[in-house]
Amino acid sequence: MKIICIGRNYAKHIEELENERPDEPVVFIKPDSAILLKNNPFIIPPFSQDIHYEVEILVKINRIGKHIDRKFAHKYYNEIGLGIDFTARDLQSRLKEKGLPWEKAKAFDGSALIGKFYPKDTFDLDNIKFQLFKNDELVQDGESSHMLWKIDELIAYVSQFFTLKIGDVLFTGTPAGVGRVKANDQLKGLMEGKVMFQIKIK
Ligand code: ZN
Repeated sequence: MKIICIGRNYAKHIEELENERPDEPVVFIKPDSAILLKNNPFIIPPFSQDIHYEVEILVKINRIGKHIDRKFAHKYYNEIGLGIDFTARDLQSRLKEKGLPWEKAKAFDGSALIGKFYPKDTFDLDNIKFQLFKNDELVQDGESSHMLWKIDELIAYVSQFFTLKIGDVLFTGTPAGVGRVKANDQLKGLMEGKVMFQIKIK
């Protein structure tokens, strides 16, 4: 399986990183080796002094598809979840400056925390509220209604480039409030009041 990630999908997050607002979704891939194994802590890698959390709504693909029309995109997923796109922000900034690919900063081992999934009809997809708490302090407070591109638009868009396969996971971008983690931090993600993951940083 692969993990397809969207960058810059919330206006306030674009502002906080002083990025340009894109005309099309920003897309990158994480390999399956990026998945943080269940119940493991996130271990800060030695190549970064500035690992950031990015809480994101996840979509699990349940059907093979390419060139998916937006109006049929809803047929390609049944479950919605929450996760973290861990990012080595210092490394990413250096790569961005040089115009180089982001993979080392975004796709390293353990960089994809995939929490619980629920059937998509559990939620009103255009109005999902989700939060990330760091050591019980609210650090990110997101609403799917603030996405620049909705889930179905993202599926239509990315499937022009990548065949979607059963089990693939789409990370839909992070709202504002990203920040650094340090050893012994605890992160907890909630979606509509449900605890979707809890993780310790080491
Ligand atoms: Zn992200």
